[in-house]
Amino acid sequence: MTKQVLILPGDGIGPEITAEAVKVLEALKKSDGLDIAMTEDLVGGAAYDVHGVPLADETMAKAHAADAVLLGAVGGYKWESLDISVRPEKGLLRLRKEMGLFANLRPAYLFPQLADASTLKPEVVAGLDILIVRELTGGIYFGQPRGIRVLENGERQGYNTYVYSESEIKRIAHVAFQAAMKRDKKLTSVDKANVLEVTELWREVVNEVAKDYPEVTVNHMYVDNAAMQLVLRPKQFDVMVTGNMFGDILSDEASMLTGSIGMLASASLDANNKGMYEPSHGSAPDIAGQNIANPLATILSAAMMLRYSLGREDLAIKIENAVGKVLDQGLRTGDIWQAGCTKVTTSAMGDAVVAAL
Ligand code: NAD
Repeated sequence: MTKQVLILPGDGIGPEITAEAVKVLEALKKSDGLDIAMTEDLVGGAAYDVHGVPLADETMAKAHAADAVLLGAVGGYKWESLDISVRPEKGLLRLRKEMGLFANLRPAYLFPQLADASTLKPEVVAGLDILIVRELTGGIYFGQPRGIRVLENGERQGYNTYVYSESEIKRIAHVAFQAAMKRDKKLTSVDKANVLEVTELWREVVNEVAKDYPEVTVNHMYVDNAAMQLVLRPKQFDVMVTGNMFGDILSDEASMLTGSIGMLASASLDANNKGMYEPSHGSAPDIAGQNIANPLATILSAAMMLRYSLGREDLAIKIENAVGKVLDQGLRTGDIWQAGCTKVTTSAMGDAVVAAL
């Protein structure tokens, strides 16, 4: 049956980079019988300009009806002074919340051709291939009560609540173990169980879920140590699973080990592997409209979409191999350019990936 894909280009470089991912998907429709129908709609500032909100109800309904959503990026200078309730990012948050996307998968994979792009020594990062599984809809970012209150002595106090229920921990742990089963079968669970009761429970529940996956080796690491180990010996990690806030920080740290924000894909999944796919970077308003942005993170996000939501692992691998070939040919957008390579535009990079498929 034809799978439905909703394309939400968004703002800034979003339209340019998603156009290249669509180009690749269109090519696979012709060459490999990829059976998808793509429709496009607005999100972020682009949606605000037309509808007065960063995500219209009709667009939300289309996202619910789709099998997967491919998103570019949202935000930009133009909308920075808007009331927080209608800022572009709210469109993203609504999609994540209403689609129930509790599992955020962020690979930090270093293409060997780009080992020199990292700020770390090539021997420390060469061969790096980490998958960070971050819980996305719970934890301290959503816990109640929260706010800023005035104490009896007149002093203001800010407060948030770090809370995870057993079922929330279980479902993200299952996602992480299943991902580990498809990789090197090594899982590191990151917590702060020496200080926070909520993560003491996290550790207990992860150990309980581990019994369902006897082939996976599990270890536990405190978040401060994990942050240190990521720069010290990053290749010790295969899959890492952690809560929302720790995952937010560690996934940015891990992605920077690869030295190239324009290369990093991400997936956010619900309990049935329906998901939203987007590059890890933002809308890069500083380079928008110039046809110089790197479209590879979005193209690799489309590959993740084929793998996790559309049941076409074969085509996901095909795209990833094509990206490798293009890098072998020495083609680079400005963000990953090195001496001796050929600098190409956004659209030329998309064309090269299509040609390499
Ligand atoms: P950014 O990721 O957009 O840009 C950071 C730097 O990286 C910029 O110099 C940019 O030119 C460069 N860059 C990013 N993606 C690139 C690509 N594909 N190719 C080449 N260079 C690239 O982060 P920022 O500047 O902090 O934020 C800009 C806007 O994006 C803000 O409005 C922010 O709120 C928004 N944002 C959106 C998302 C999202 O949509 N998921 C995520 C982060 C930031």
